[in-house]
Amino acid sequence: MHTVVAIKQVPDTTNVRINPETGTLIREGVPAIINPYDLHAVELAVRLKERFGGKVTVITMGPPKAAEALIECVEQGADRCILITDRKFAAADTLATSYVLARAIEALQEEGPIDLYLFGLQAIDGDTAQVGPGVATRLNVPLITYALHIESIDPEARVAVVHRKTERGIEVLRTRLPALLTVLKEIAPVQRAPLANMIRAARYKPEVWSSTDPVAFDQAQIGIRGSPTVVGRAYTPAPRQAGDVIRVSELGLQECVRRALQNIQASGAIDLASIASAKRPTDGNGGEHS
Ligand SMILES: Cc1cc2nc3c(=O)[nH]c(=O)nc-3n(C[C@H](O)[C@H](O)[C@H](O)COP(=O)(O)OP(=O)(O)OC[C@H]3O[C@@H](n4cnc5c(N)ncnc54)[C@H](O)[C@@H]3O)c2cc1C
Repeated sequence: MHTVVAIKQVPDTTNVRINPETGTLIREGVPAIINPYDLHAVELAVRLKERFGGKVTVITMGPPKAAEALIECVEQGADRCILITDRKFAAADTLATSYVLARAIEALQEEGPIDLYLFGLQAIDGDTAQVGPGVATRLNVPLITYALHIESIDPEARVAVVHRKTERGIEVLRTRLPALLTVLKEIAPVQRAPLANMIRAARYKPEVWSSTDPVAFDQAQIGIRGSPTVVGRAYTPAPRQAGDVIRVSELGLQECVRRALQNIQASGAIDLASIASAKRPTDGNGGEHS
């Protein structure tokens, strides 16, 4: 079984700070980690390899520093790791990112069959959850998002039964392979890396792919040139102030309602005067609607 996993290196913080001038994330001085969901995608791939044999390939598009994240995947059990890095990929939005990852996967497909693509549900910095679906669309493979559990998988028959989380509960889906799953953390709790992997990782050098070698990426579809998303303004919103607390037990209902209306009026959220003066709709017989 050959599984390809896409991981993203992200700042080790949910308290992202934005550079007000450039509108981009301040990454300097912020330690980087593997996007948490992606760790579980790698873990799942390694478990499937332990069950069915085969290999795990991990790809990432990022700055040279992202090589560290790939080494961690070798510790976890990945066999081959590819860093897709080039200044020309910088400032990519999700459309450009999904183009690069899909094109890289197509190049891997030319080397041999792939059974499964695993992506994290979303990245904790961009948070769009758009890249997995974008790549599945480009590769024209079935997509299952919010994947929670693989009930069964048969690489020979090329089918799998997957449970996905929805607002209404769990959906059980049968899919042909290869398919692309965006996974939740529950799909495979991360286990401690075995010593043998740690030793292998210490010597491992990820392959490095640029924007021209070994794959010739379409320069018009990468980086800022390939990104139609225009960041109008990016800023860290001011923390919300606590609202006023008015207690019926202290002031009585009438006074509370009066003050609440006063606050609403003062906030400008609603113009109470215009509501009060608005003509009440009539029932056509001169009577007012109840
Ligand atoms: C604060 C912030 C806001 C942003 N807002 C937008 C926006 O509104 N629209 C937009 O188009 N872009 C946006 N971006 C840029 C966006 O982060 C990049 O395009 C990024 O490469 C992919 O989007 P994402 O981080 O939302 O990933 P998601 O789509 O949330 O990632 C889902 C999964 O895709 C895989 N993946 C994502 N990126 C990579 C990668 N570089 N290499 C390998 N696998 C990867 C991982 O498995 C990941 O778990 C934003 C970036 C930041 C920091």
